Amino acid sequence: MQAWLDAIVRMSSTRANYWLEVALDVGLGAILLAAGWQRSNGPGIALAAVATGLFAFSFIEYFFHRWMFHTRIPLFAQGHDKHHREPLGYDSLPFFLPAAILLGLTGLLVLVLPAGFTFLMAGAATFGYVAYGVSHFVIHHVRFKRPLLRRWAAAHHVHHYHPDSNFGVTSPLWDYLLGTRYVRQPRQPAA
Ligand SMILES: [Zn+2]
Ligand SMILES: [Zn+2]
Repeated sequence: MQAWLDAIVRMSSTRANYWLEVALDVGLGAILLAAGWQRSNGPGIALAAVATGLFAFSFIEYFFHRWMFHTRIPLFAQGHDKHHREPLGYDSLPFFLPAAILLGLTGLLVLVLPAGFTFLMAGAATFGYVAYGVSHFVIHHVRFKRPLLRRWAAAHHVHHYHPDSNFGVTSPLWDYLLGTRYVRQPRQPAA
């Protein structure tokens, strides 16, 4: 068991694992959106499903980063610890894990919600995850010139120094709502 786990963690830090994950999730997202669109009841409801999926993903991103990656759960925490030490590496989750989690959540939701709505929502959430992966990669590999983009990237760089704040990568929404947005401490006036 331990040998298996070690092998999976080693694989998860390779470049091939990283891009395989992106390809798998883009494929899964496209299939879910197509399946949802076929079963949907008009563009208005479809748009609402996509918006709900993206909103839900923003919380999933925050939830996993705060309560899964920054814990001792091996598959989640090991790669993330290494990413905190070596931000330019390819450490991420095993390529199949996010797709498996997203499919599992979809399977649960389709039991209680209409299939068209669920698939569109799950497809949007999957693309939210792809956007998170690409954003995180770009934040560490690109130096932005535009002030707005610099501020957006800076929030995540701050997380690397203060791992108990700024868990949102694509957006700061849940950090504001749940009080984990990093606030620079005012300098103490000289006595
Ligand atoms: Zn990072
Ligand atoms: Zn982190």
